Amino acid sequence: MIAEVVEMTTQDARTSGQYDVVVVGGGAAGLSGALALARSKRSVLVVDAGQPRNASSPHAHNYLSRDGVAPGELLALGRAEVLGYGAEVRTGRARSAARTDDGGFTVELEDGTAVGARRLLVATGLTDELPDVAGVRERWGRDVLHCPYCHGYEVRDQEVGILATSAFALHGARLWRQLTDRVTLLHHTAPELTADEREELDARGVTVVEGVVE
Ligand SMILES: Cc1cc2nc3c(=O)[nH]c(=O)nc-3n(C[C@H](O)[C@H](O)[C@H](O)COP(=O)(O)OP(=O)(O)OC[C@H]3O[C@@H](n4cnc5c(N)ncnc54)[C@H](O)[C@@H]3O)c2cc1C
Repeated sequence: MIAEVVEMTTQDARTSGQYDVVVVGGGAAGLSGALALARSKRSVLVVDAGQPRNASSPHAHNYLSRDGVAPGELLALGRAEVLGYGAEVRTGRARSAARTDDGGFTVELEDGTAVGARRLLVATGLTDELPDVAGVRERWGRDVLHCPYCHGYEVRDQEVGILATSAFALHGARLWRQLTDRVTLLHHTAPELTADEREELDARGVTVVEGVVE
């Protein structure tokens, strides 16, 4: 009986183009939001451009019960769950969102269509700005890694080089050092290390290599 009501609500929204919630971005965050909303009997449209941040990575980790799953598979499972509660998922890119007089939103998509929403959930993720070093872009997410919690275990006890582009690299060195005792900090474009920082890295057995990586 509940399933019938949900279906009618979503069907009405599809026909009118007016949803309770439009979710912009159908990655893990957007789909999680959509799932909770659809289960709360809201009519939901997820608009997703299909370019999740972790797409280049073969496996996603630290997700209980799905550790090691391929990112695309995780999203396919999530999408199926969301669809199962009557939400709609549309491939496309939102170009703009504007407030309407009644307090809702109009969302324009790049294909020229527009939909209305009482509420808007923006879950468009992040864009990584990669350093301009040969090979980084091609190997990003595979053997150029940014997150010790996501992929550190897979390279445990191996040689790890940290391409330092900011003061945050020192923190990175501390984290990666917990996974391997073979850490080299490539100074690259990071600010000058203080004497204390050098002493700390030395005490942790982290080698520092000066100069910009070409
Ligand atoms: C290489 C790499 C590996 C990672 N590995 C892990 C891991 O193992 N475990 C982990 O927990 N985290 C990992 N992360 C972090 C991971 O990216 C996030 O956990 C997850 O992807 C975040 O989900 P999200 O929904 O916020 O963003 P995303 O997954 O980036 O999803 C955002 C979605 O919104 C869409 N979008 C953007 N703009 C628009 C628009 N205007 N209109 C419509 N759609 C739009 C995008 O195309 C995309 O599909 C990794 C990140 C990177 C870069």
